[in-house]
Amino acid sequence: MAYLQPVRGTHDLLPDDLRAQRFVQDTAAAIALRYGFEEMTPPVFEFTDVFQRTLGDTSDIVTKEMYTFDDRGGDSITLRPEFTAGIARAFMSNGLQQSVPVKFFARGPVFRYERPQKGRLRQFHQVDVEILGVPGPQADIEVIAVGAHLLLELGVADDVTLEINTLGDTESRQTYRETLVEYLTAHKSKLSEDSLKRLEKNPLRIFDSKNEGDREVMAEAPLLQEYLNDHSRTFFDDVLQGLADVGVETNINPQLVRGLDYYSHTAFEFVTTTLGSQGAVLAGGRYDGLMEQMGGRAMPGIGWAAGVERLAMMVGDAAPTKRPVAIVPVGAPAAREAMKIAQTLREDGYHVDLGYSGNMGKRMKRADKVNAIASVILGDDELAKNVATVRDMLSGEQAEVPLSDLREHLAKYR
Ligand code: ATP
Ligand code: MG
Repeated sequence: MAYLQPVRGTHDLLPDDLRAQRFVQDTAAAIALRYGFEEMTPPVFEFTDVFQRTLGDTSDIVTKEMYTFDDRGGDSITLRPEFTAGIARAFMSNGLQQSVPVKFFARGPVFRYERPQKGRLRQFHQVDVEILGVPGPQADIEVIAVGAHLLLELGVADDVTLEINTLGDTESRQTYRETLVEYLTAHKSKLSEDSLKRLEKNPLRIFDSKNEGDREVMAEAPLLQEYLNDHSRTFFDDVLQGLADVGVETNINPQLVRGLDYYSHTAFEFVTTTLGSQGAVLAGGRYDGLMEQMGGRAMPGIGWAAGVERLAMMVGDAAPTKRPVAIVPVGAPAAREAMKIAQTLREDGYHVDLGYSGNMGKRMKRADKVNAIASVILGDDELAKNVATVRDMLSGEQAEVPLSDLREHLAKYR
């Protein structure tokens, strides 16, 4: 009965998993808002062309990883493998060219047919920010700063470093490309089959290869940095200076690339050594040529996406939880009163756990299990006096509180 297992690479997010992931997502939404990003959500699936045209025929995602199918109407549909393409499509569909700059935050599940392992899933989640319509380095600085701020707020900044590079403008890349192709052609015999294909269409992407032979060749390859024109060099210097100004540390990695033609200038990745081989937690870059590639008017853009599962693993159980007030009734009359008290407190905004059955010991155990911040104990004695015993679960101190003062007494636990 294989169907009683989730599909390989997918997971049930039980409350403990979801708590950490919500923390990551909600923190990201809140920090992004501080930087002026507003949340939007593109659909989970799009016409296949949306991804095919933007991600390019040679990317890993398009060649190996997309969940693509024909729907009942015969359209080729793909479950989104990332957010940027869908957001760019939404930008055009909604005529937002008139309202630039546009700053979007998005979150949700994405799908890639990959070999599942720790930190690599087939359904995973991303948080994503994009700025559309800003050609200058301020956008690059802001987009990277919001990422750095998120990692700081999640408490993982010390375990992460920012690697950054520039891909220059089209002119710089053109000059460089010729030199690179010449070099690679001379070393053809050592390249993998995948990379031989990329050599024609997309030679920069070979820097991204995980193949041993490719890596050896690329270690000696000429670097784009040496071919930058003045504009590209100044642009990169401005980005680096701006990041220094806002206190973001950078490590220049001249081999970091995004291999598609519509990428330009800034490329970056926040990486960690704490997650084994799945070290990239947040990655992005400038994609000034993307809108044209999709058939729209030229429009600069820059953004990043972060893996929620990878960040949640780094956060571990440090995600804050809301501790409830536990109501612990003993005996039938008290149970009835407890229900009424719980209702009043809940209407008041308290987070209340109500033990359903069992003796006092069993119910107190439940109060511990739900990590209650305070317990309200109600037995026959208490009922007779119209009071409750309130136990502070941190200090263990108990106080007898008249039922009429209960809300006031509990205020500090809200
Ligand atoms: P990798 O090199 O690990 O395959 P990528 O370059 O494919 O990453 P991007 O497309 O830049 O990743 O996606 C942004 C982020 O999404 C990554 O930095 C990572 O944190 C996360 N991510 C990518 N693929 C997966 C996956 N299969 N499972 C979980 N998280 C992922
Ligand atoms: Mg990948």
